[in-house]
Amino acid sequence: MTSARLPSIDKLLRAPACAPLQHRYGREALLKTLRDLLDELREPARHGQLAALELSEAVLAGRAGERLASQHRSRVRRVFNLTGTVLHTNLGRALLPDEAIEAITLAARYPLNLEFDLATGKRGDRDDLIEGLIRELTGAEAVTVVNNNAAAVLLALNSLGARREGIISRGELIEIGGAFRIPDIMARAGVKLHEVGTTNRTHAKDYEAAINSRSGLLMRVHTSNYSVQGFTASVATAELASIAHAHGLPLLEDLGSGSLVDLSRWGLPKEPTVQDALRDGADIVTFSGDKLLGGPQAGLIVGSRELIARIKKNPLKRALRVDKLTLAALEAVLNLYRDPDRLAERLTSLRLLSRPQADIQQQAERLAPPLTAMLGEGWQVQVEPALGMIGSGAQPVARLPSAALCIRPLQPRRLRGRSLRQLEEALRNLPIPVLGRIAEDALWLDLRQLDDEPGFVEQLGLLQQELCA
Ligand SMILES: *Cc1c(COP(=O)(O)O)cnc(C)c1O
Repeated sequence: MTSARLPSIDKLLRAPACAPLQHRYGREALLKTLRDLLDELREPARHGQLAALELSEAVLAGRAGERLASQHRSRVRRVFNLTGTVLHTNLGRALLPDEAIEAITLAARYPLNLEFDLATGKRGDRDDLIEGLIRELTGAEAVTVVNNNAAAVLLALNSLGARREGIISRGELIEIGGAFRIPDIMARAGVKLHEVGTTNRTHAKDYEAAINSRSGLLMRVHTSNYSVQGFTASVATAELASIAHAHGLPLLEDLGSGSLVDLSRWGLPKEPTVQDALRDGADIVTFSGDKLLGGPQAGLIVGSRELIARIKKNPLKRALRVDKLTLAALEAVLNLYRDPDRLAERLTSLRLLSRPQADIQQQAERLAPPLTAMLGEGWQVQVEPALGMIGSGAQPVARLPSAALCIRPLQPRRLRGRSLRQLEEALRNLPIPVLGRIAEDALWLDLRQLDDEPGFVEQLGLLQQELCA
């Protein structure tokens, strides 16, 4: 092997092959990358382990280009969510409708009346931007918006129950993904947990017996992410509200997903609505913006004017408040709820959740032949019925009838696991990663969420190359 010498960094920087890199990434980044490369090659070059070709300007520039491209690639990547879980917390939950995306762009690009009252020319309050809509849609007297529902619960508890007891059923001491546990949040909010009843049964008399001079509030948490079946009892909002009010205490209800419409209209399982909770007497209701509501990540706190005013005075509110982009998107999404008849067409998450099985099935049948062709020999692709989920802990037991591309390796059983993992990885490494799930010796691509069919087919075109890599 011919031993070769490293080119100098100056010569390399001036090389024609590096000019486009300097133009694209800037001199500083290019210089650093070239230095790193040369440093790594110094030892092997000294020992004569490198051929002249490996140290040519063109080859070095090519390697620098690859490194720079990978360093500069955005870490935030779009993916195809074909997992069957629609509001997937790890994949960003609700997809926003165009109206919200336009509102975000506008709010990002121009100054806006975030805290400025255009009618009077005086300072305004950012919550006022959506208060009218919330009142109209839910019947609540007032609203305040924070970063997410976890923040909403923390803020409401701290504002209304600090240094006092919060009474809650043992059946509602839930944990939600990401280490949100009601007892921990209560403790952080400075509210002393007073648990009543048992895991499966809690009665009105349990609450009655618990109320004492240190009581600050009653709390009800929608057990959104699990279900207790069998010998169970819980106290409905209306009855709990009358118990709380008889003792001059507020009832705080954490609805979790908190829908503003009856979802059974679109064949989805019925979730308690915000309107129901308020009508039944809850004084404060908290819910997420990016679960069933279909909007941006946010926590909405709605309820009586007096209690909302107390919550807004809490200094924690300032620490948990939402930004202008969130408010702009939230207003646009809430606006769509004014026309429930067209909601399923316009609100992306509801459109996906309510997409008919027959429609998904047709799409799967359309895509099975090209996928079979792309995968080549050794794989079998079948269209199979599948059961998806709403996600985000909403209605954990409910299933959404769907259709999937089910991919099976045509191999003896003991080899299938490895092939499936390779396929899963190849799909994940595509320029737009395709995420499915492995079950029953097959890889399942649930197509409920596949809107961009041409984009998906384009990715499939690159799959063979990934599989061989
Ligand atoms: C999801 C959920 C939360 C947390 O809401 P985030 O918006 O994710 O912070 C709190 N309580 C209940 C009952 C939930 O379902």
